[in-house]
Amino acid sequence: MVTLTPMMQQFLRIKEQYPDCVLFFRLGDFYEMFFDDAVLASRVLEITLTSRDGGSQRVPMCGVPHHSVNSYIAKMISHGYKVAMCDQVEDPKVAKGIVKREVTRVITPGTVIDGQLLEDKQNNYIAAVFSDQRGFGIAFADISTGEFMITEISGANGSETLLEELGRIQPAELLLPDILEEDKIIFSIKNICSPLISFYTPRIVDENKYIYQQFGQENLESLGLPNHANCLRAANELLNFLHNTQMRSLSHIRKIEYFSTNQYMMLDTSARRNLELTKTLLHGEKKGSLLWVLDHTATAMGGRMLKKWIEQPLLDIKSINARLDGVEQFTKDIFLREDLKQLLSQVYDLERLTTRVAYGTANARDLISLKNSLSVLPKIKSLLINNQAMLLCKSAAEIDTLDDLVELLETGLKDDPPVGIREGEIIKEGYSQEVDTLRKASTDGRKWLAQLESKERQRTGIKSLKIGFNKVFGYYIEVTKSNINAVPEEYQRRQTLANAERYITPQLKEYEEMILGAQDKLVELEYQLFIQIRDSVAREISRIQKSAEAVSKIDVMVSLAEIAVKYNYVRPQVNDSGKIHIKEGRHPVVELSLEDGQFVPNDTLMDNDGNTLLLITGPNMGGKSTYQRQVALITLMAQMGSFVPASEAEIGVTDRIFARVGASDDLASGKSTFMMEMHECKNALKNATKNSLVIIDELGRGTSNLEGMAIAQAVIEYLHDEIGCRTLFSTHYHELAEMESNLSNFKNYAAAVEEKGDNVVFLHRIVPGRASKSYGVHCARLAGLPMVVVDRANRLLVDLEIYRQAAEEVISGGSQTATAKEEVQTQLFCCSPEAAELLDEISELDLLNTTPLEALNQLFIIQKKIRNIKQ
Ligand code: ATP
Repeated sequence: MVTLTPMMQQFLRIKEQYPDCVLFFRLGDFYEMFFDDAVLASRVLEITLTSRDGGSQRVPMCGVPHHSVNSYIAKMISHGYKVAMCDQVEDPKVAKGIVKREVTRVITPGTVIDGQLLEDKQNNYIAAVFSDQRGFGIAFADISTGEFMITEISGANGSETLLEELGRIQPAELLLPDILEEDKIIFSIKNICSPLISFYTPRIVDENKYIYQQFGQENLESLGLPNHANCLRAANELLNFLHNTQMRSLSHIRKIEYFSTNQYMMLDTSARRNLELTKTLLHGEKKGSLLWVLDHTATAMGGRMLKKWIEQPLLDIKSINARLDGVEQFTKDIFLREDLKQLLSQVYDLERLTTRVAYGTANARDLISLKNSLSVLPKIKSLLINNQAMLLCKSAAEIDTLDDLVELLETGLKDDPPVGIREGEIIKEGYSQEVDTLRKASTDGRKWLAQLESKERQRTGIKSLKIGFNKVFGYYIEVTKSNINAVPEEYQRRQTLANAERYITPQLKEYEEMILGAQDKLVELEYQLFIQIRDSVAREISRIQKSAEAVSKIDVMVSLAEIAVKYNYVRPQVNDSGKIHIKEGRHPVVELSLEDGQFVPNDTLMDNDGNTLLLITGPNMGGKSTYQRQVALITLMAQMGSFVPASEAEIGVTDRIFARVGASDDLASGKSTFMMEMHECKNALKNATKNSLVIIDELGRGTSNLEGMAIAQAVIEYLHDEIGCRTLFSTHYHELAEMESNLSNFKNYAAAVEEKGDNVVFLHRIVPGRASKSYGVHCARLAGLPMVVVDRANRLLVDLEIYRQAAEEVISGGSQTATAKEEVQTQLFCCSPEAAELLDEISELDLLNTTPLEALNQLFIIQKKIRNIKQ
């Protein structure tokens, strides 16, 4: 029978309650892991696996020092595991038997608050979804900043909108109701955001219990949502999860905010990805994305807000213009901008700082950073309070300068406190009389010791005599062995070293008591006072958060102005004209990758008056994709409140942008390249409205030419006739340009080229008209394909071209002679696979062993087959 030590029994008892977590079990100065957890953790953390006596058997064990535990937790989390921190919850000195231990916090990918796993300028969200026949509710929170949002999704396209929202939020962790456990939506979710997913069983009674507890009933009622709204049920589940894992009051999550997905421009997952809004398609990096170009924010909070502005462009013209007014003010006043940049650079991440305050992990240095940040708020406020731009004025008014808190931190805390909060040297002179008295006693004692040392040197004549301190013997007088003859009688020997003897005197011990007593009391008192100060800060968290939000907004607008001036952007005119009229537009990212002046600007006119759907043909590398994306990005930038890369721009508000671009497959969800293409196209056709912008960069390339072209034409007709939305469609099916004569709102454009002998120059100018060539073989040569392949391709191209022209003539019944037609028909016939099969059949006939009658029969069958093929 296996018997276990009491401690192993305790470990297993606790582990039983957290089966899906790796249990970090506090043992002295280490966190240890046992059994399977140890095997797993030693592999993930790359630490030695040892074993320990566990009773009748040895059990696997590994451990990490408690002071560096955060980096190990970070590693476990980044590998997708959850960690349960099991701490000693009673003083081992007073414990009877085994020390009591409990799990004090569960850390999961969505509940990280420690810096090592968090990106400064990125939120870390945990989301919960609730679903029923009415639709979905989403609640999501970033517990490192205190943000808590909810939204309701209903209607026929509920699942798609849910996926779009989750694609935007990119939660690190997701809680789903168990009815979805077998649902195929799980595949799609994993594909768009790959969160750690857990399932919960929805509770039936007392639905809003946790929301009331967290936010108060009034707060919730002010949102005006029906009591049983799905998003409230999701919020309730999320809060329940947070309470169960964080095991403390989440006092920094104060505000629950409802938003409607209709408030913002909808961007489906492929548009977000293909337009490279916050990361690049190829490597998923910020560098090379729109965010990378626009982000000159000075604070981490501003960086996070800018990302939100990019991901959620506005629809309300007034709100867009309010942002643009703010940006414009900053573009006009370089001094104001410079002053603000300088002030903002002194503001720390107030949101994440308040979380550390709420969690009780903020140290004195954090509070000094808070004080320094708050100290610049009055200057920021005074610079903007009378600004002409309403939004700037309003943001300035919303800044609470928290003078009372600054005063408290200024008078209470030393300017350069240590990292630890149990080492003293935190509280400033004059804040507490008791601290000052103890500190004086401690310093006076030290002075006395210094005097004693020189007095004793003189008295004994031992020049090397010194007073020292260690934890075992306290203060002592040290005399080298060569001088022990001169040691006075009253010295009492305490310790012998190789070269010296250590002594004490009753007087020395008296002072020691006074110094050490004062020091201990001082450290304890400073700790208590620090906790009081931190608690005072905790009580003001919602005021700090309000200021943080206002400062973030200002930071974003300063950043956008900075970019506008630096890259020569202009203020767009945003209205409801339904137009997109851009003069000398540029692609914000591509232009930065080229040398100054190399980017060729292009105009765009899209309206409901003959220019709704623009078909762009032209060579490979001609600039078609760049052009399409630049129009989409300029539209998006205008609606997020940014100036745009153009010399003039009028943007009629766009409710959605769809971007079907390039080829990619999604094998994990069972979609081939072509199916992905069709899927993205379906999304656009199904969801676009008259006010949307659709960009389609190639369609139907993943199937046979004729089928691809047929699909492309049908899609164009549908977009043009049924939806009537602004569309940019680029293609290498030059034949589609013919559609201009039949569709009234269709215009042909082409990427211009200049042929110079054998060379082709891509002008990157998008001009009215149509192209007839793609210069694909030329591009293949530029890409460095072997010359023999390029030459062969060129020869084949000539043959195929002649052949195609002849075939066209046949089909159109053109002016060719009957013999020429016959020839082409024969060529067409010979190329078919059926003909090849027939030829094989004829060549395999065994004529020597065939009777005339059989031969006649076979000839009849062959003739019948030929007629069938020719039909
Ligand atoms: P393909 O048909 O092969 O997809 P394309 O016509 O879509 O080609 P793009 O991918 O847009 O061509 O552009 C090819 C390259 O040309 C870009 O990477 C960029 O370097 C350059 N380019 C595109 N547009 C411009 C421009 N307006 N000014 C200067 N260079 C440009």
